[in-house]
Amino acid sequence: MRFDIDEIRGLFPVLHQEVHGRPLVYFDNAATTQKPKAVIEALSKYYQHDNSNIHRGAHTLADRATRYYEETREAIRDFINAKESAEVIFTKGTTESINLVAKTFGNRFIGKDDEILISTMEHHSNIVPWQMLCEEKGAHLKVIPITEEGEIIWDEFEKLLSPKTKLVSIVHASNALGTINPVKKIIEAAHNVGAKVLLDGAQSTSHLEIDVQDLDCDFLAFSAHKLYGPTGLGILYGKRELLEAIPPFLGGGEMIKEVTFEKTTYNEIPFKFEAGTPNIADVIAFKEALEFINSWGKTQIKKHEDELLAYANELTKDIKGFIPVGTAAEKVAVLSFNINGMHPFDVGQMLDARGIAVRTGHHCTQPLMHRFGIEGTVRASFAVYNTKSEIENLAEGIARIARIKN
Ligand code: PLP
Repeated sequence: MRFDIDEIRGLFPVLHQEVHGRPLVYFDNAATTQKPKAVIEALSKYYQHDNSNIHRGAHTLADRATRYYEETREAIRDFINAKESAEVIFTKGTTESINLVAKTFGNRFIGKDDEILISTMEHHSNIVPWQMLCEEKGAHLKVIPITEEGEIIWDEFEKLLSPKTKLVSIVHASNALGTINPVKKIIEAAHNVGAKVLLDGAQSTSHLEIDVQDLDCDFLAFSAHKLYGPTGLGILYGKRELLEAIPPFLGGGEMIKEVTFEKTTYNEIPFKFEAGTPNIADVIAFKEALEFINSWGKTQIKKHEDELLAYANELTKDIKGFIPVGTAAEKVAVLSFNINGMHPFDVGQMLDARGIAVRTGHHCTQPLMHRFGIEGTVRASFAVYNTKSEIENLAEGIARIARIKN
């Protein structure tokens, strides 16, 4: 489909409102994206026509809900090019997906003095679960350093890799800087020492083509709400042989084959990891979000977002007092910055007064902020429905705010 920004914007009801008397400019997409009408309508349709528990029902509504639920799993398989839909597990979000791997893979395969590698630019949800695991197991967490631009230092990464490395868990695209990590090379190097690799795809899956077979990652974690889908829904992709080799995460209904008081046997994957009644409505509605992305195509979406980022860089680079944070060569559309002499939160409030929604603070990456010796940044993150005139509005706002102290 030919890229038509007006048509795209027309699909997102929330965008058409005023904030403080100004048209809303939504630049908080790395936190969560807005939802197209089709997603919102699918949620309502499910509750009005199809609501039922899945998998165990002997009636028409249960069959229908089950079919729609499993159709989304298949759509996700296609979206990331997994070999089979059994490798796609539904969770609550990226955070839960990573914790699932820490509690299952970690428990079974990580022992005393083993090493887990992460990078300086990880989100807290890809730091804390590994710290908890290391503490429990007597394993060690090692951190790949990064450059001033916000790119991992390859030589240092290679030096950290050893036969002790059991897992490399790394963000594909950084939420705070936008850096796209060279994950294919990372995965190859990690596999050469026998380590498995988990990719945190929370920020990459909406912008970049993802092919888990080509990447050869062992796990991929991401969240539906950052992909124009509902909140409270995450995905964990894992290779079949690994998912079969690790124990279940939560115990309860659905994840079992047979239960007696003496012994329980577990269900096949993916159900072994989906205990209890899942988030049925949001799973079903998520298919509409994937269809929205597929209908415009990630290539066109990425091109549009890259143009917005380039334009934002161009319009802000000569503003006195504007300090960009994260200038990697390969980035998703994230403009992270500070204004000399001003607190990021104050800048965020002043932009909000112009109707511009950005995020401020440490973006759940406190160690990364420490690396740059700052408390936080202002982050404007762009999505498919943003426009060049919104970027002009942002740049004008930044220039006015910067003049206060510069
Ligand atoms: N990882 C990254 C890179 C993120 O940007 C986020 C959310 O901002 C997460 C993990 C956690 O995602 P969720 O809160 O949806 O679990």
